[in-house]
Amino acid sequence: MSTPPPQAPFDTPPAGPNPYAAPPAGAPGQDAFGTPQGFGAPQRFGAPPAGAPTPGVYGDAPHGYGGVPQGYGAPQAFGGPQAFGNPQAFAGPSCRFCGSVPAVQATVRGHQGFVIIMRFLKLQGPFCRSCGIAAHRRMTADSLWQGWWGIGSAFINPITMLINLPQRAKINKLAPPLPGAPGLPADPGKPVFRRPAILGLLIPLIVVGAIVYSAQRDPGYASVGDCVHSKHTVVAGVEDKDADVVVIDCSDSDADARIVGKVPGTHDGESACTAFSDADGYYYREQGSDQYTLCLHFLK
Ligand SMILES: [Zn+2]
Repeated sequence: MSTPPPQAPFDTPPAGPNPYAAPPAGAPGQDAFGTPQGFGAPQRFGAPPAGAPTPGVYGDAPHGYGGVPQGYGAPQAFGGPQAFGNPQAFAGPSCRFCGSVPAVQATVRGHQGFVIIMRFLKLQGPFCRSCGIAAHRRMTADSLWQGWWGIGSAFINPITMLINLPQRAKINKLAPPLPGAPGLPADPGKPVFRRPAILGLLIPLIVVGAIVYSAQRDPGYASVGDCVHSKHTVVAGVEDKDADVVVIDCSDSDADARIVGKVPGTHDGESACTAFSDADGYYYREQGSDQYTLCLHFLK
């Protein structure tokens, strides 16, 4: 990776897959930026003159050619500032969306879940830094409100976001795209946490909260010592055939009865609850083959 020192217009040492830093402002090579149509095949590469960079600099980078085709045929271009100021001289891929360099191969994923339908979204690079960040932010923002709506999706969505993190880290490491690309790099936009879509994070919290709340009130999950409230008016001696009962705190003034016994597998409260001396009522429920009786001691 030798370069002729007198002509070298870059001011940082070669590093990583992209051996050339951004040229200084006003570098003579910048006029080469405006003619990106010269994406050439490797065979355009003419024999470099003595003192030119070794072919190895270019040799393993099929996308590193182009720019000004005549530059490759014209020996005087090699070693000249034009060759280095040209972004196409970067070894490595160029952005799939705008053509900028530097770029890195990465895959950004998103997820959509609609009850029973799932969509696994995928956007593949190479990305320049701007297009990559824009794609990651857009897909994450969309997934934050589209990705939760199914039992499977609720688990797949956060996993998808985690899988994106190392891909985003690769994109973050890139230097900003050099000017002069065929297309305009995408505007990365605001970070996801500053977009309204971040409120989508509340969706799983609300759903989980609602499930926990309803399970806590479900008499099927109640245990002895818990208290229950009947949503219907309790009339002593009258059986409520369609009781709507929720579990509530015993200190709540709505608490109608305390559970003194729980007998699974029966709905015959009359006999099941004789085992509990302080039981003066019962509640039973059948759900499919699952049935149980709660023996109650009324508080009112
Ligand atoms: Zn780009």
